[in-house]
Amino acid sequence: MKDFQFYINGNWVGGSLDKIIIRNPATNEDIASVPCGGKSEAQEAVEAAHAAFPNWSSLSVYERSDYIRKWYELIENNQDELARIMTLEQGKPLKEAIGEINYANGFLSWYAEEAKRIYGEMIPATSSNKRLFVQKQPVGVVAVITPWNFPAAMITRKVAPALAAGCTVVMKPAEQTPLTAIKLIELAEIAGIPNGVINLVTGDANEIGKTWLGDKRVRKLTFTGSTEVGKLLLKQSAETVKKISLELGGHAPAIIFDDANIDKAVNDVIASKFRNGGQTCVCANRIYVQDSIYDNFLTKFTEKVKELVVGNGLIEGTDIGPLIDEAAIEKVQQHIDDAVKKGAKIETGGKLIDGLYFEPTVLSGVKDDMLCMVEETFGPVAPVCKFTTDEEVIDRANDTIYGLAAYVFTENINRGLKATEQLEYGIIGLNDGLPSTPQAPFGGLKQSGLGREGGHYGIDEYLEIKYVSLGIG
Ligand code: ADP
Repeated sequence: MKDFQFYINGNWVGGSLDKIIIRNPATNEDIASVPCGGKSEAQEAVEAAHAAFPNWSSLSVYERSDYIRKWYELIENNQDELARIMTLEQGKPLKEAIGEINYANGFLSWYAEEAKRIYGEMIPATSSNKRLFVQKQPVGVVAVITPWNFPAAMITRKVAPALAAGCTVVMKPAEQTPLTAIKLIELAEIAGIPNGVINLVTGDANEIGKTWLGDKRVRKLTFTGSTEVGKLLLKQSAETVKKISLELGGHAPAIIFDDANIDKAVNDVIASKFRNGGQTCVCANRIYVQDSIYDNFLTKFTEKVKELVVGNGLIEGTDIGPLIDEAAIEKVQQHIDDAVKKGAKIETGGKLIDGLYFEPTVLSGVKDDMLCMVEETFGPVAPVCKFTTDEEVIDRANDTIYGLAAYVFTENINRGLKATEQLEYGIIGLNDGLPSTPQAPFGGLKQSGLGREGGHYGIDEYLEIKYVSLGIG
């Protein structure tokens, strides 16, 4: 078992602190430890990031781009090791971990280029002796707090645009999955990213969060995680009026209209629902099927779900790894029990296999008052229910506090387009179960979040707009 350290101002530190043990959810074995940092380490990280900001932000974007590109190449050359670390600490199948490393690295590649397109603007003045300009400048030190379900991508999706914009970063990965983050930072160090530009602290989330959010030198918070914690961090940021990006919970509906290509819909809903064992915020959580195709869809869908292989993510052929912890298992079981009690039928699955492994489950005859239709399950449970009219299903799909992702399957483009306009969601997969990609905006409406990550929108979150009015005579 290796004892890791965290990274402040270019130094690996924290060896003398208490330790947090990292467990492999597939085997329940302890695999490593990281230091349990608190207030003073969080402060040191801000001091380092604050001190590094003037130099980093005054480099040309071409120089910053070169650093990001070098980091990208190192990640590419080390993707197998990174993916293995991720599977060990998080549990996802190795093929998904490799997919995530590629996706994560896509943000470095995209923002190494997008750095070169931080354009300002010149605005026509009302008077001929004035010139009006808009400049874009980095916001300053950014606090990055990330979850365990995508241990690499949630970091690069934030850190890449931050660095590209000229910001420096203090970052805290989830307590369950710091090892992927540490490996990424080791590679950033090899890439020569200057001391203090990226700082990583592991430890007491509450202490670290409070310290960063109470510090006026931290100008921005970017967070991915639960809606509950997001709201708390938003409140804590109010005192110093930080710029905020939040990517919070989702409760994605998947709507299968009667003219859908059923085989495609089955495959795409499975890809969406069961990726990462159902532990993603854009997972299809509520599957609405139009009544005339309900039986056909349910039969085909259930047959395919039965083929999913559950096991240790390091074993080839595994489709679904363990869930992250016991609390995740309890929530899945609670959602199934509640649905069955209220009249749903288990078509397949429904039981704990062993340890943190849960059977991929299909529930039919699901009604809107069941827990699984109201809250995120974050596990391998697919509730399927019937609808009759287009208006009805859009109303039911929108009847939630969340607004992150939604999926629509139809071969009628007009019907599909209308649905995309009516659904109150930030991301819509129209005949597409996997819409996320680095060059497109990712983010939610309502209580699913604030701001967008990815694409050219993503870098704006790290830039301030400065207006200059020049009088010339
Ligand atoms: P999840 O339910 O997916 O674990 P959380 O919102 O609890 O989501 O966690 C996401 C991230 O937020 C993690 O890095 C976690 O350590 C961090 N976090 C949790 N509580 C706090 C807090 N009070 N202050 C700052 N960060 C927190």
